[in-house]
Order: sequence, then structure tokens, then C-alpha cells
Amino acid sequence: MRAQSGCDVAIVGGGASGTLLAVNLLRCARAPFRVVLVERSGLFGRGLAYSTRSAHHLLNVPAARMGAFPDDPEHFLRWLRQTWPDTAPGDFVPRYRYGLYLESLLRDMATRAPPGVQLELVSDEVVSADEEGGRVRLGFLAGGSLEARAAVLALGNAMPADLRVPDGGLYASERYHRSPWAPRALRGVEPDDSVLLIGTGLTMVDTVLSLEEQGHRGVIHALSRHGLLPHVHRGGTPAPARPTTYASPGIRDVLRALRQEVLRECHAAPDADGHLHPIPIRIRAVLRIMRQEVKRATEAGADWRTVVDALRPATVPLWHRLTTGERRRFLRHLRSHWEVHRHRMAPSIGDTVARLRREGRLVIHAGRLRSFRLVDSGVEARVRRRGHAGEEVLHVQHVINCTGPEGAITRGHPLLKTLVDAGRVCPDMLGMGLATDAHGALMDLGGHASGRLYTLGPPRRGELWETTAVPEIRAQARGLAEHLLQRLGTSPISRMPLAQLGVPLD
Ligand SMILES: Cc1cc2nc3c(=O)[nH]c(=O)nc-3n(C[C@H](O)[C@H](O)[C@H](O)COP(=O)(O)OP(=O)(O)OC[C@H]3O[C@@H](n4cnc5c(N)ncnc54)[C@H](O)[C@@H]3O)c2cc1C
Repeated sequence: MRAQSGCDVAIVGGGASGTLLAVNLLRCARAPFRVVLVERSGLFGRGLAYSTRSAHHLLNVPAARMGAFPDDPEHFLRWLRQTWPDTAPGDFVPRYRYGLYLESLLRDMATRAPPGVQLELVSDEVVSADEEGGRVRLGFLAGGSLEARAAVLALGNAMPADLRVPDGGLYASERYHRSPWAPRALRGVEPDDSVLLIGTGLTMVDTVLSLEEQGHRGVIHALSRHGLLPHVHRGGTPAPARPTTYASPGIRDVLRALRQEVLRECHAAPDADGHLHPIPIRIRAVLRIMRQEVKRATEAGADWRTVVDALRPATVPLWHRLTTGERRRFLRHLRSHWEVHRHRMAPSIGDTVARLRREGRLVIHAGRLRSFRLVDSGVEARVRRRGHAGEEVLHVQHVINCTGPEGAITRGHPLLKTLVDAGRVCPDMLGMGLATDAHGALMDLGGHASGRLYTLGPPRRGELWETTAVPEIRAQARGLAEHLLQRLGTSPISRMPLAQLGVPLD
């Protein structure tokens, strides 16, 4: 469908972030109000994470915590049970079901919104965004344009970057697979081929599962600098929305102590007039507190996962109190350790990974890639192992980039590149995402927040750090919807009851 006239809010990107924002706007808007959601793939509610069709790709968050609304984390669980009645709160269900859920919410919202509150879906790519006369004009790849009072760039994750090493022609060959998420990404990998996966995080794990699913039997090498694998969620753990609700009194004390300690470290110091000013903290202090709490938690009968999860609500304020230098220090020295503890595998996937390693089918390497060379029989990858001086050669038939959605935000986003080049939006201090204000308004090169252009989700990574998973995105979507409605002069109304949303699957 093509938007014919102007709208109140245009959302560019129909992945989880754009969809959740649209749902919140429609749920709270007063008529007349018109939202246009633009998605280049034509698939709404899926995005990178939830467009997989594989039943082996599981959510890494239990079902009871994945609800689309911050005030109802179990909404997804109830929706699942309409079709899969046996789903338990702690189940890690296939990711495609989450895509179906988001799609059904969007469909439902479009049909149940009050008269005059409208949603239009447009399948096209937005290639330009110009501010003219107090409006944003979006230009489409297929031609034509759309005027909006405000536009939200929900463009999601950056594409994986090629490793900057001599590639000996590999990157231009069919033996190289630039992104494991591209359609038919593993085409050409024969069952007995040996494969090198660059990266050892959750993207690598996804790719191993995809290879298994297509009957691959060869050896899979996975390489990263530290060779760290994601940890595994505890099996059979119930999945309440807030960890404290199920913690024993002893654990509750531990969690409270952790929050207090972190807040004491990072909160504020009174000046001579008694005004409180946030004081910067050192990442080393946070690490020390974490270690102490893990020790206390373990002594109290819990494990480190409880402590890592308990820190989550404090992550954003904590990040804000780290100086840019301290954030860089964290990224350089601790990031990979944090990621494997924070983003964990579902227990069943952990079992598969452990089995493949026992069978010698999956070999994890810690080291630095030095170069690639194409040879008649495949690819030679020169690797310098961690802690060793010399280089070693891995001989494989295929190389798959599993470094994940990190790096320069403008990669794979021509629209963003144009805006950044023009200085109309600006990368954050760490170059991980875009500079925004507290609501997600994009900042220009001069440091001014736009009144018309916003973002949410992964592009706010440098500013917030914890911004890519659904529990964070749903809170941002709600906050941004309320902010936009107020800004556009239509104060949010009481929301449509959640019980009405999410029709059963056919
Ligand atoms: C593999 C994977 C698994 C994950 N698993 C979980 C999980 O289990 N639990 C959890 O909480 N979180 C998970 N996450 C994190 C999180 O849910 C996702 O990062 C989230 O879905 C981000 O959604 P998004 O809409 O911001 O970005 P994306 O999913 O990247 O969607 C952005 C959309 O914008 C579209 N687009 C981009 N540019 C344009 C343009 N110019 N015009 C039109 N359309 C455009 C793209 O086509 C895309 O559909 C996972 C992430 C990944 C990558």
C-alpha cells in the first residue's frame, strides 16, 4: 500500500521497535490520528530477530518476560497459550512465534482502534528524510513521498562488518557468507564441508543450529578473541517479571544490597548548597561490587545469574554515570565477558552446543584472525592463538561472519548515512549508535535535539547500552508514544485494555 496523504507519525522500520511503537500510539491516541508504518521487507513485526522460520532458533528470554507492554510482561505468554496451551512461563519458545505475536498485535490494533485512529502499512524503503515547514518529508525508493508531523527511525541493527584483515579474494567469493541472516545465507555449504564461523556469541550459536538443521555433518570452527561462549540459562527456572518476586528472603536481601550498593556508588554527592550532583564512577568499582554480590548470592544459595539479572534495571543509570573514557574501558576489557553472562542460551540449546563440542563437531578457538587466502580446496585462515606467539592455519571450505549486529550504525542504512553525512543526525560519542536526547529525539551535529526526528531501540546503544532486548524496547516504545502524543498536541488517553489485544492464531 502507498501512503497517499500526510500523517501524524511516520515510523520507518517495521521490526519489533517500530511495531511496538505503532501499537502504543494506536492504543493511546485520540482521534483523529494517523500512523504510517514503513517497512522495506514487506514483513511487519519481524525485523532481524523474528523473521527466522527455524523452530530451532529460540528466544533467549523466557516467554513470561516477553510481553509487548511494560505493565503486562505476561501478555505474550497468555497469547501463546491460546494456541500452545502447555507453554510454561519459563519456556524458551521459537522466535518465529514472537514475530507472529507482534504481527497479530498490529493487525488487531488496526482493526480495533477507535474511529479516526488509523494505521497504514507501506512496503517500501525510505531513502530520504527532509524537514520542511515544520514537517518531515520522507522519500521512497519506489518514488513518491509522505509528509509527517514527526518521523521515528526504527532502523534496528547495523549489518555485520567484514573483518579488516587481508582477505586474499575471499570476501568477493562464494565461500564467504557476509551475514548469517541474509536470505539463503548458508547456500553452498555442503553437508561435509568444514566451516569457520567468525564470532562465538549468540549469532554463532544460531548459525550452528541452522547448519545442523540443513543436515551439516562437517567440523565447525568458531573463533573469537577470547573464545567465550554464551552461558546457559538455568533449566526449569520459573520466569517471573521481577526477580525479587520469587526470590527467597535471603536472595531478596542480596538483590536489595546490590541495588543499594550500585546506587550509592553512582548516585550523587551534595554540594555546598545541598544540591545533589551525579558523580562519575569507575567501571572497576562496579566489577568489584558485582563480584562481592556474586559471592554473597552464592553463599545465600542463589547463583551469579540472579545478580546479573538484578543489575538490569540499574544498567542505564549506571551507564550514564560512566565517563566516555570509562565506557570505552568497559567496551575494551569487559564487554565480551559481560555479553556472555548477560545474553544467555536457552537450556536446550546449551545441551546441543555441549553435545556438538563433545563430538568434536564444534571447536571453539580463542585468537586473532590475521588473514585469509583462497586456495583450490577452500580457504586458509591464519590465526594467532590467544597467549601464543606463532600463527596457525585453519583450512575450511566456508567462512561465515557471525560477529553480530555491531559496529558502525550507518552500515546497511543508506538513509542514515545520508543524514549523518549532512550533519542532521550525529553518531554518539562511542560511534555505536546515534546521539539522542532523553526521549529519543535525534541530535544534529551542533548538539540540538530535533523536534521531528526520533529513534528507539538498537540505535540508542551508545547512549543507553541496555536498549536492544524487548524488555527495554517495549518501555521505550511506550515512553516515546506518550511523548509524541503530547508533543503533537493530543494528550494520551486511557489505554485500550490489554485483554482485548492479540487474537488467537488460526
Ligand atoms: C538474532 C537475534 C535474536 C534476538 N533474540 C532476542 C530474544 O530472544 N529476546 C529479546 O528480548 N531480544 C532479542 N533480540 C534483540 C531484539 O529483540 C532485537 O534486536 C529487536 O528485534 C530490534 O528490533 P528493531 O525493530 O529495532 O530492529 P530490526 O529487527 O533490525 O528491524 C528494523 C527494521 O527496519 C527496516 N528498515 C531499515 N531501514 C529501513 C528503511 N530505510 N526503510 C524501511 N524499512 C527499513 C528493516 O527492514 C527491519 O525490518 C535478538 C536480536 C537478534 C539480532
